[in-house]
Amino acid sequence: MPIYEYKCNDCAEDFEKLVSGANPDVSCPKCGSGNITKKFSLFGMSGVEKPVTSSGSGCSSCSSSSCKSCH
Ligand SMILES: [Zn+2]
Repeated sequence: MPIYEYKCNDCAEDFEKLVSGANPDVSCPKCGSGNITKKFSLFGMSGVEKPVTSSGSGCSSCSSSSCKSCH
């Protein structure tokens, strides 16, 4: 479950929240406002951008699984 970091547009409070759905109902814990901006996901890096080291299928001309030896 990802943690998203939000910033309240009303009181400028920064807070983090665990969300489970695509459209979570998030409000500021300080002032209760729903006028917030999602900044980024702390765990968003994992799964979005993967390194190009997919095992075995990256390169057909080498027998290594990582392709580090032929590039
Ligand atoms: Zn607020």
